[in-house]
Amino acid sequence: MNEFEFIARIRAQAESRGSRSDLVRGIGDDAAVLKQFAGRETVITTDLLVEGVDFNRDTSPPRLLGHKALAVSLSDIAAMGARPRWALCSIGVPPQLWDSSFLDEFYEGLFSLADRYDVKLIGGDVSRAAEKFVVDSIVLGECENQPPVFRSGAKVGDRLFVTGALGAASAGLRLLERGARINKATKDHEWPSIEALLLRQLAPEPRVGWGLVLGQEHLTTAMIDLSDGLSSDLHHLCKESGVGAVVRSASLPVDPLVTELCGRRALDPLMLALHGGEDFELLFTVAPENAKRLPRKVDGIGITEIGEITSKGIRVSEGARVWKLKPEGWKHF
Ligand code: ADP
Ligand code: MG
Repeated sequence: MNEFEFIARIRAQAESRGSRSDLVRGIGDDAAVLKQFAGRETVITTDLLVEGVDFNRDTSPPRLLGHKALAVSLSDIAAMGARPRWALCSIGVPPQLWDSSFLDEFYEGLFSLADRYDVKLIGGDVSRAAEKFVVDSIVLGECENQPPVFRSGAKVGDRLFVTGALGAASAGLRLLERGARINKATKDHEWPSIEALLLRQLAPEPRVGWGLVLGQEHLTTAMIDLSDGLSSDLHHLCKESGVGAVVRSASLPVDPLVTELCGRRALDPLMLALHGGEDFELLFTVAPENAKRLPRKVDGIGITEIGEITSKGIRVSEGARVWKLKPEGWKHF
């Protein structure tokens, strides 16, 4: 059983117990949606990061880890087209970190990202952990006078878009695995590019501005953030919508730094863009008549049309060749 089958089982158990009129959406999207009153909905998401699995303490400075812990949840709120408002953060702390500067730096990173979006930290919990640091961040957001954007709204013929660029976060992870470190600058002329890729892995920027614009302007039919990787997350979106998709590989916005650095390191940029996780870009679908209403940039970040929604099957077209896209992104089990 992989983690997605596990979630499906828990979801079936939760749903078999019946819903309630104030529950708009439970398990199965980037965030749950609760109705406060007509026209005002709360979205809520939680993300768990475990040392040694989701991050390593020797490669991730605490300030960047605090940033990332919040960023991953802000990204889920963005994927609902909602405005992030409140955060809770629970930590399990190994004793050797308790009296060090680790926690101060961790919260410095968390607060500075929260301040940028006027997100208020309103609670959390603290416990001791054996050896590994563990953090769970919960973020609540709001949709006002606008419905949230689900994974489930994509229609055949919709056009498929992605924000920003792909593959940088997983290229950064490969560089960390090969010994690169963010606070160990080298004299190498490649260092600025290496540093930028490491930052895409260690301190991702959630696309909060794009999420808000797409939600408020009713521009998109379905949306998900790219946490597991394009191939896996596109499968999630298509499954919830009951549709298929075709991705044109030549259109994929592979991060130029990935193309620049991967050749010499025997890494395949297209594979990193298709399957690499943690870019935290937004993947969204747009009805053909709305495509011309899309802004070109939000907060300096552009978008790229990468394919379209079909009735079934998830495929990549590469020139004249068409092949089946398997979900090969990140899996915990
Ligand atoms: P994301 O990558 O967007 O955070 P996940 O794949 O973690 O999404 O989760 C997908 C859905 O499954 C979400 O609705 C999430 O709340 C739910 N989910 C994940 N883990 C659990 C769990 N242990 N119990 C209940 N629901 C879960
Ligand atoms: Mg998500």
